[in-house]
Amino acid sequence: MGGSGTLDTAISPPGLGRDIPAHAVGPALTADNWAGDLLATSAAAAQAEWAALTGTERGRVLRRAAEIIRGRNRELSVLESFDTGKPLQETLVADATSGADALEYFGGLAGSLTGEHIPLSGGDFVYTVREPLGVCLGIGAWNYPTQIACWKAAPALACGNAMIFKPSETTPLCALKIAEILIEAGAPAGLFNVVQGFGETGAMLSGHPGIAKVSLTGSVPTGRKVAAQAAGAMKHVTMELGGKSPLIIFDDADLESAISAAINGNFYSSGQICSNGTRVFVHRAIKEAFLARLAERLGNAVIGDPMDEATNFGPMTSAAQLDIALSYVAKGVAEGARLVMGGDRIDRPGFWMTPAIFADVTDSMAIAREEIFGPVMSVLDFEDEADVIARANDTEFGLAGGVFTRDLARAHRVIGQIRAGSCYINTYNLTPVEAPFGGVKASGVGRENSKEAINHYSEVKSVYVCLGETEAAF
Ligand code: NAD
Repeated sequence: MGGSGTLDTAISPPGLGRDIPAHAVGPALTADNWAGDLLATSAAAAQAEWAALTGTERGRVLRRAAEIIRGRNRELSVLESFDTGKPLQETLVADATSGADALEYFGGLAGSLTGEHIPLSGGDFVYTVREPLGVCLGIGAWNYPTQIACWKAAPALACGNAMIFKPSETTPLCALKIAEILIEAGAPAGLFNVVQGFGETGAMLSGHPGIAKVSLTGSVPTGRKVAAQAAGAMKHVTMELGGKSPLIIFDDADLESAISAAINGNFYSSGQICSNGTRVFVHRAIKEAFLARLAERLGNAVIGDPMDEATNFGPMTSAAQLDIALSYVAKGVAEGARLVMGGDRIDRPGFWMTPAIFADVTDSMAIAREEIFGPVMSVLDFEDEADVIARANDTEFGLAGGVFTRDLARAHRVIGQIRAGSCYINTYNLTPVEAPFGGVKASGVGRENSKEAINHYSEVKSVYVCLGETEAAF
């Protein structure tokens, strides 16, 4: 698939039971074929029709879509695994289900999106109305194609917007299923549109005057470009970007739980998760015990066919991402970090490597400063609480952060000083739809999920109502 073509043959994801027709994937948008017509006639018309419904009616459609997704979880999970390479063991519980949660949650909220009544003197009052923005653009990364499509579409549609969604060029399939399911659930055609293409397609869409808001999930460099373009037209933005998050493990921590969190926060989805705690600060007193037990547990990883439900560590999503991760393993070794285990390319078809653990990592090393987005964990030592907080915050990113300690006063004290949007005490990387998710500093702007997301997909109109006479100076 490319920026200007279509697939010539149908795709047959293993286990899906049917083909995905080639026409569902293309044609991609180009400067010649793209279109005002898509926006003007399709999305905008659907948005007007959709916004005229009551919130309860809109919510019913979203909740029906959630039910359909749950009913087809296995089929959608197979597709997600096919799209990304993630093991079916993960996708069965983390992808379509998370998308369904978002549709269900925002479907439930849709009927309660009301304004305020603000009484004023003389019987005057102001009432506020929460209005949709119009046609919103979602642009996705490749690590969670179903979840990202739903996390953006659910609050957008609940508020009465339409959405045009451009999935990552690396994982084009899953969002198409969400579009089909929304239509089946009763959404008007054109309300949720999927447009395939590369970055230039995203740029073309986000620059279009018909787009009121851009919500990007992607890297910081892409975020800078998209936000700058949107700023020119004063468009709303949500930026869900990268991270290099700290996970701080004190010497009184429950070691097995802390190791579980470090494993989940570095190796789930083969490390391709934005909020991963890739800088694992371990108190010097427990460092060697931590490393020994971590290595032992990592030895139990089942690396194999993603469609085999016993597999719990799959390949990288693309050759390019594998090369990036392996290049960081080489950098870590060259910079003098101790490679405890892993980091080898696996000789089998696909984009495989063994999960890597580096110890004795120092703050200035590239593997401790730059987002890798692969299964490479950096373990750094610390002794002093104030010192580790300062080091944890010494990064351009601010997506997530975690602390493990049995001392709850210390846990709250430390988390209170971590500059990050999504924080964890004695766990890591859980993202329930009820909780806001998003970053500070270079990691992003705005929040997804929770009631917070409503503020990012609607705007408030205030209406002053005068019950008396209006006077003027002359
Ligand atoms: P990427 O930035 O390369 O691409 C993201 C999307 O933006 C793709 O769909 C791409 O086609 C599009 N794009 C690229 N250039 C564009 C432009 N100029 N205008 C408009 N669209 C453009 O990111 P990726 O490699 O697909 O994903 C990995 C990155 O995403 C990592 O940095 C990761 O941390 C981040 N991420 C963040 C979150 C989050 O919620 N914060 C979640 C998942 C991934």
